[in-house]
Amino acid sequence: MRSAEFGIRNEAQESEVKAHPSSAFNSAFRIPHSAIVIGGGLAGLAAAVGLAGRGFKVTVLESRARLGGRAGSFTDPTTGQMVDACQHVSMGCCTNLTHFLRTVGVDHLLSPQPKLYFMTPDRRTSVFKADPWPAPFHLGRALTGAHYLTPLDKLRVAYGLAAMLWERPDADPPLLPWLKAHRQNSRTIERFWAIVLTSALNETVDRVGLKYARKVFRDGFVRHRDGFTVHVPTVPLGRLYGDELRAWLTSHNVELRENTGARRLASSPEGTIASVELRDGSTLTADWYVLAVPFDRVADLLPDELAREPYFAGAANLTPSPITSVHLWFDRPTMKLPHAVLIDCLGQWVFDRGEVAPGEFYLQVVVSAARDLKGLGRDEIQRRVVEELGRLFPPIAQAKLLRAKVITEHAATFSAVPGVDRWRPVQASPVQNLAVAGDWTATGWPATMESAVRSGYLAAEAILARAGQPAKLVQPDLV
Ligand SMILES: Cc1cc2nc3c(=O)[nH]c(=O)nc-3n(C[C@H](O)[C@H](O)[C@H](O)COP(=O)(O)OP(=O)(O)OC[C@H]3O[C@@H](n4cnc5c(N)ncnc54)[C@H](O)[C@@H]3O)c2cc1C
Repeated sequence: MRSAEFGIRNEAQESEVKAHPSSAFNSAFRIPHSAIVIGGGLAGLAAAVGLAGRGFKVTVLESRARLGGRAGSFTDPTTGQMVDACQHVSMGCCTNLTHFLRTVGVDHLLSPQPKLYFMTPDRRTSVFKADPWPAPFHLGRALTGAHYLTPLDKLRVAYGLAAMLWERPDADPPLLPWLKAHRQNSRTIERFWAIVLTSALNETVDRVGLKYARKVFRDGFVRHRDGFTVHVPTVPLGRLYGDELRAWLTSHNVELRENTGARRLASSPEGTIASVELRDGSTLTADWYVLAVPFDRVADLLPDELAREPYFAGAANLTPSPITSVHLWFDRPTMKLPHAVLIDCLGQWVFDRGEVAPGEFYLQVVVSAARDLKGLGRDEIQRRVVEELGRLFPPIAQAKLLRAKVITEHAATFSAVPGVDRWRPVQASPVQNLAVAGDWTATGWPATMESAVRSGYLAAEAILARAGQPAKLVQPDLV
């Protein structure tokens, strides 16, 4: 079937998009537009917030029993405690996530960390904090104070950073050769570039492109004093994206339907989306649809002819990257720091989550881009991590490990390989009443909560524009 039969348009035709036929009728008679959002992760929830805030009647379909998607928690069956599948953090530069959290009234549930602690196996620790100088000079002293780099290494890093910032924003050659060509040695690559980028991009430096590496350093460390501040939730993610969010959405005419999987979208003869069939066989209809599922679920949910369209088919070229988290409950306090970034270690970040139940002190260790752990088995991963922590934090060697869990999310994020943006579609799909959202869509951000929220706002903007109610939802960067 040809594109025209599905109402497919290319980007050049985007400006000619007419409002959806129902929009004139709806605004004349003040009937709210209806929208169905498939996927109750942050992308879908942000789209719902954007549309509901402008009078749309929104239904969110989520196949799982809870909202939040990958940024979620589960209830531990042995203790009844809410446990995050993996620690999530935000940064000051994540302006859309901040806006989303503020809108639904949960921004107070994140705690900004004005200091970051970098630790080496010999237990030496450098404190990374801003001086009261304007960006980009605010972090100069923090960099020069890093004990794990020699003075010459620091000059190499400063040179590399300056060269990176001079690159064109869309230049995206493989990063590792670029670093080597810009005077980086194995020590600066492993102890500086990889330490920051592996966590920020969930990918190793030998696999990523320059573009998102540059973005991490520009937005996080150079552009604004507050960009680098890490914000850590003070509650489990299930609580962060819990009661207040649900209350905001329901009070804004959003129907939340968990345990409701979508099976497939159906097309109309005009080439728009006519309905969505649910896994229980029933059918729902709306004026507008937002498909906000992970990239590997998209093709299954589309009519075959649409799935083959280049706009949708590109997502099949994205590749996943895993994250492993190790959850440890000890019988006593074990760390004096709220967190530590670990250098030359198996674990990359360790977070002290404090006393979560009487006599239970919870630590979480995160290993991003965890391919190397494949094949080790949970027990061996746990053994190595606990042993390593025991060397870094002596009280751990004395403490009793009460419980532990090792969780690997195999498709945690897409891999930010060189040129990855050619596979990331814009949110305004070529099908007139369908927008696409998700951290993997074209947001200009790596796969993060910020990217997910941006994509949801952009999807809502696309629908609002086509419905004849244009609005700007995406928030400006820190300047
Ligand atoms: C282990 C791990 C650690 C991470 N750490 C961080 C971090 O520290 N900071 C950060 O910013 N980001 C982090 N991320 C990334 C972040 O979680 C994601 O970028 C973000 O949550 C993606 O949101 P999303 O809405 O695009 O996708 P998802 O969260 O995947 O949401 C998609 C939703 O669609 C639902 N769905 C799928 N199919 C259907 C269907 N047929 N019908 C109905 N619903 C369906 C799914 O159940 C899911 O809830 C991490 C991710 C992982 C996995």
